[in-house]
Amino acid sequence: MKPIRATNFYGFVKCPRKVYLYFFGDPTKKIPYSEFLQQKMKEGRDYEREIISKFRFAQPEEALSYKEAAEQTLKFMKNKEKLIYQPVIIQDNLIGIPDFLEIKKGKSKLGNYYYQPMDIKTGLSAKKKYTMQLCFYCYLLEDIQGFSPDKFKLWLGDGSIMELKTQDYFNKFADIFSKIKDIAGGKKEQVHICGACKDCQWKDFCFSVAEKEDHLSLIFNISRNNIRKLKDFGVKNLKDAAKINIDELSKVKGFGKTSLKRWKLQARSLISGKSVKLSSYPFPDVQDIYFDIEDTQIKNNKIVYLFGMVIDKEYKYFLAEKPSEEKKAWKSFLDFFKDKKQFNLYVYSGHEKSMLKKLFKKYGGDKKIFDRIISNLIDLLSVVKKTTIFPVYSYSIKDIAKFLGFRWSSKDASGSQSLLWYSEWMATNDKKHLNKILEYNKEDCLAEIAVKEHIENQNY
Ligand code: SF4
Repeated sequence: MKPIRATNFYGFVKCPRKVYLYFFGDPTKKIPYSEFLQQKMKEGRDYEREIISKFRFAQPEEALSYKEAAEQTLKFMKNKEKLIYQPVIIQDNLIGIPDFLEIKKGKSKLGNYYYQPMDIKTGLSAKKKYTMQLCFYCYLLEDIQGFSPDKFKLWLGDGSIMELKTQDYFNKFADIFSKIKDIAGGKKEQVHICGACKDCQWKDFCFSVAEKEDHLSLIFNISRNNIRKLKDFGVKNLKDAAKINIDELSKVKGFGKTSLKRWKLQARSLISGKSVKLSSYPFPDVQDIYFDIEDTQIKNNKIVYLFGMVIDKEYKYFLAEKPSEEKKAWKSFLDFFKDKKQFNLYVYSGHEKSMLKKLFKKYGGDKKIFDRIISNLIDLLSVVKKTTIFPVYSYSIKDIAKFLGFRWSSKDASGSQSLLWYSEWMATNDKKHLNKILEYNKEDCLAEIAVKEHIENQNY
């Protein structure tokens, strides 16, 4: 069995195949992390550095092997060190390196004290990918202390510290641990294309495998469980899915006719490379406004820094050059709609609606204008799902608009890239970063036009 590390729990929560490829994949097939993810990782390291600078602690020497570092960690524990940074805990071929071990009062094999693990994370809640790693450290400590600590701590991105009960997470942990052990022992995890692939280093490799195998997970939003069930009924790939007998399969518990029809049409669309019309959509015959916001997380706060719109081919925007100008940009945005009574305000996804509601709660404004804006929103993603099957693996605006022939001028244009541009703008004051954001935001609005026009043209 391959040595198991805490990072495998993090990986498993995202995608079990990640763990399989970690152990057995060809590392040359991995692609580098995106600039955005590299920046996020750097922020994580900076945050950890900021926190540890406040404490005095013992730490195993960096040059040591795992085995030597584990021996030194044990010495620190026997010496009753209050806090140990990056301790190494080994049990057979299991290796754990929490951010901290913190001394606690209570009987253990060590004496009248024991240790509890703590991790520093930039996230704002006790995510599963964090708690599973911490349960792993608790599990590893059992050998040394005679029992697993009943609690662990998470130092979160907003500076708060959560102390959580190990038992609340242990069943889930035990289940994942046993699956990871199976994978480490050689059990193959099949490809499964899903939302997690977008940021995964194995993305190119897995997509090429899935395409070669005509894999069912290429059907947008199909779950692992449904794929397993379809396979039980002989539906093994896209070609089979394109021919499924909906009446027959809908008798099987858990398969609805709507889902079966969607999977069948999605498979057909992927095979033919053509979109399929499901229904028409009655767009109200009023002025069309294509809208997109850009926002970012600064410490604890979500900040909307750009409200961009395309109206009658003109790009109009309200920009908070600094996060402190968010309120001003919000008021200008509301003001813009003062005299507008009838309009369609197109967005892509429910994100804009939820951010507008948050901003109204935060800063207020004219309720009548706000209500009018909200009631005129049209979510094109919902419209797409109702009206059209596209031959794409994801229904993001990027994938749909690209299929329709729309191109962004920047090769690396993406929501996460625009976050990076905004933080570069704040760090350097160089307008070129702001201009890139404006261009990207405008093109997102133009992409909405491409999608809306495609659906409208289908209506005839
Ligand atoms: S690309 Fe997707 S399927 Fe492959 S390992 Fe990553 S998340 Fe899993």
